[in-house]
Amino acid sequence: MAVAKVARPGAPVEAGALFVAATPIGNLDDVSTRLKTVLGRVSCVAAEDTRRTGTLLRSLGIRVPLVSLHAHNERSRIPELLARLRAGEDLVLASDAGTPGISDPGMRLVGEARHAGIRVTPLPGPCAAVAALSVAGFPADRFHFEGFLPSRQAARRARLKQLEAVPETLVFYEAVHRLTAALEDMQEVLGSERMAFLARELTKVHESAYGDTLAELCAAAAAGAIVARGEFTLVVAGRVPQEQDERTLDAVLRPLLEELPTRQAARLAASITGCPRRLAYGRALAVRASPGPDS
Ligand code: SAM
Repeated sequence: MAVAKVARPGAPVEAGALFVAATPIGNLDDVSTRLKTVLGRVSCVAAEDTRRTGTLLRSLGIRVPLVSLHAHNERSRIPELLARLRAGEDLVLASDAGTPGISDPGMRLVGEARHAGIRVTPLPGPCAAVAALSVAGFPADRFHFEGFLPSRQAARRARLKQLEAVPETLVFYEAVHRLTAALEDMQEVLGSERMAFLARELTKVHESAYGDTLAELCAAAAAGAIVARGEFTLVVAGRVPQEQDERTLDAVLRPLLEELPTRQAARLAASITGCPRRLAYGRALAVRASPGPDS
């Protein structure tokens, strides 16, 4: 397969190309024909983890030199890689798994190569976030990719608070040892009734999925019903305005209903929250009919 070289302004005419390669997130059969072809003809692969990419190359029967390029050496590696590209070598950039730059290193090299006028081209393929979204059944015409939340609880909750009003579907990466804590914080901050979808070990032998409210997912995690091994991507529904309005209304209505008749409490709650009166009245009837959280 011919790989067209188009010199960019500022780049030497014979400059090479940087191929940004997505690699499997589990199933090695997800390697594309194009990825195999390009790997077979480049002079070097810049890999986040040379051992892991080496295993992939061996499974494909391809021998090509590897150089490491990870979060801690990306900056210092760039001059050498740019020099090779300028000299006409074609290189592949690969992360451990999935698409480079998506919660993975690579962004700096790509930026500097572009800046130098080098041709940068994607070899598109697996990405855990997109794979999880594609099977979650949640709206994905627009979505918010959050990646990893902060590991400390206070910072995690503060970030979730900022995401609480986002109407688009949310996508998170989470390490297995923080999964339960993250789910509990999500339940607390985003609300227990929010729908969520937990994708585990996508494309691997033990791929599994759990879809339910955050409350149910938390209960399942606490009961050990979610296998606490492997890799997880979490898709959470965006804020449904009505649901949020109802929660706010209920909180405002509870003390008002202790002192006032239903209709009057509803009118006051509607003007305090800015919610429609009809909705406030409906919630007032529901709250009156149901025991409060403290009773
Ligand atoms: N660049 C990668 C991509 O495009 O998917 C993501 C790299 S990020 C460092 C790794 C995280 O992606 C994991 O902690 C997990 O949250 C998610 N992930 C990777 N592989 C996965 C899989 N097979 N199933 C579910 N989630 C996965």
